[in-house]
Amino acid sequence: MSGAVYFEMKETIEVTRQRMIDRTNRDGNGCWNWNGGVNRHGYGHFYLFGKTMYAHRASYVLFMGDIPDEMCVLHRCDNRKCVNPSHLFLGSRTENFVDMIQKGRGWFQKPRNKNWHRGTKITMEDAEAIRILRKGGRTTTEIARMFNVGKSTIKDVCSGHTWTTPVNDKRRM
Ligand SMILES: [Zn+2]
Repeated sequence: MSGAVYFEMKETIEVTRQRMIDRTNRDGNGCWNWNGGVNRHGYGHFYLFGKTMYAHRASYVLFMGDIPDEMCVLHRCDNRKCVNPSHLFLGSRTENFVDMIQKGRGWFQKPRNKNWHRGTKITMEDAEAIRILRKGGRTTTEIARMFNVGKSTIKDVCSGHTWTTPVNDKRRM
């Protein structure tokens, strides 16, 4: 946000920042825990500049600045309800996904349900994360365990036999 725009909006921003803070409870880790409703993924929502957005993204905009296109706002504290701007940082969608996997929060790392079939649900996004993990030095065995698939699937992905199309998913966190 430019200085001039900020000056004109300053009062509104300060009022809006307070509206954000009023909806949080601080905890011993310094997290500002959202005390409003959260969606099924555990994220709060906040109405900002005429639209509803994720509360942690709104906090980033209010306290840190604009979020570049296609960037995600990630949590250092691994607490989705937290909107403390100093606990937030920007990352690409792929970085968000790798971060999620490393913290054990991927969908495939949750308990299986009866519709789950081994090795059938690697998406292109998963494939991109798999390649990044492999380049980062994780073994095929480790990655296979993270994704709950066979080692041959991981090898196929890394050798480019499958899932070679780049990620084009527009969802943002
Ligand atoms: Zn936090």
